[in-house]
Amino acid sequence: MTDTATKYDDLKPIIGRDKDMILAEENPFEAMMERFDHAAKLLNLDPGLYKVLRNPEKQIIVSVPILRDSGEVEVYTGYRVLYNTSRGPAKGGIRFDLNVTLEEVKALAAWMTWKCALVNIPFGGSKGGVVCDPTTMSMGELERVTRRYTSSIIEVLGPDSDVPAPDVNTNERVMAWIMDTYSMHKRHTVTAVVTGKPVEMGGSLGRREATGRGCMIVTREALATLGMSLKGARIAVQGFGNVGSIAAALMAQAGAIIVAASDKSTALHNPKGLDVEDLIKWVKERRQLAGYTKAQTIPHEQVLTVDCDVLIPAATENVITRKNAPHIKAKIICEGANGPTSAAADKILEDKGVFVIPDILANAGGVTVSYFEWVQDRGGYFWDEETVNRRLEAILVRSFSEVMAMAAKHKVANRIASYIVASSPWIGWRRCIGCAECMPDALSRGRRRWPAHEEQRVAGGL
Ligand code: NAD
Repeated sequence: MTDTATKYDDLKPIIGRDKDMILAEENPFEAMMERFDHAAKLLNLDPGLYKVLRNPEKQIIVSVPILRDSGEVEVYTGYRVLYNTSRGPAKGGIRFDLNVTLEEVKALAAWMTWKCALVNIPFGGSKGGVVCDPTTMSMGELERVTRRYTSSIIEVLGPDSDVPAPDVNTNERVMAWIMDTYSMHKRHTVTAVVTGKPVEMGGSLGRREATGRGCMIVTREALATLGMSLKGARIAVQGFGNVGSIAAALMAQAGAIIVAASDKSTALHNPKGLDVEDLIKWVKERRQLAGYTKAQTIPHEQVLTVDCDVLIPAATENVITRKNAPHIKAKIICEGANGPTSAAADKILEDKGVFVIPDILANAGGVTVSYFEWVQDRGGYFWDEETVNRRLEAILVRSFSEVMAMAAKHKVANRIASYIVASSPWIGWRRCIGCAECMPDALSRGRRRWPAHEEQRVAGGL
């Protein structure tokens, strides 16, 4: 065991990991942190900084009572976690789902923190969710849940403090309700409090497509790294919502063949290629893929293991596990969803030589254009779609090459390399406000002092 390993292992009892949390493959927060720990060791991250980055800043649990259409009162549980705001306002989606847990929201908030740092946009990370099943709720009930949840967490929301966006089962309309509720409380319109809202209400052109577009851009870069191109590449997509369907459509437009697609309701397969536009039209009318007859159906799980060049998990967490990872045939996995691959599966994929584009890079297109939206709202000056897409492309291509360079430098998997790139801003940040070596010591004495070399610089008039 190395000295660094000992240093971090010793810290584990102090850093307040939830006592009843065993290191389970299914626990998204622990699975994510296992990879972060690896990057921290390689970076020799200052222990004080490590402790700060390993714990969420704020965790809020609220009860959300609403009147159902039946006249009964129902109370839902809502969460909002602000993971880290040292680089700027917290930024993160809100999901409505029965599987939402505090542990999941914590992990998603941490991912947002790393993601914003990786693509170098001035936001921290947050996430929120309400435990509910929107498929069983009317539009009126959904609106009441959204507005009540917004009111319950209103003290943390704001363009300078915490800015929500859409996530699983939430969309532009939900963002419009949040913005309206917040603006009612503030007595004036505050467009920059949410992103991913309708263009008519201050949303950005290109935001709806941004996450899928980002998946397309980084997949194209990864294919080029392997000497291939999108034209003719065979793609399988798990999850046919905002991210999965748009990624599939943009890749198909670039000449890729979408051989499989699935959602919660069914999985479809056609080795010669599915008609993506037709599938999107089908889902728009029926809200699910089930019932589509122009392709063969396959067992749900098989969408991950069909013969293809690129697999895009774009549904939910922990779908690629130690059980199915050995059977994956794709050369590239583009993680459209957050946390689709367990830590155990990572090792198997690495041994198989699968090129993984990690979530914090693969789906960073969404938050990047959310940042553009926030900038446009605050400036009151809106860009055309071509400008949005060009700036998105530049940021993702640069971030992709930074991750590749870091992977080569440290001889590590792309995921660990992306965590190293993502952690780097805090090292610079720390350097700017104090010396990494003496800071914990200075803080423990209750005041900040200049390190010796800085004192010399100041004394020397530098
Ligand atoms: P969405 O609600 O629009 O779509 C989710 C899709 O996944 C639906 O088609 C649903 O039926 C399907 N699905 C759910 N469970 C499934 C399962 N077990 N097997 C197959 N399909 C399943 O959500 P989205 O916005 O597309 O988000 C998908 C993922 O991408 C989430 O992990 C989200 O956190 C992540 N993400 C979204 C954005 C964004 O801008 N929307 C940005 C970054 C990351």
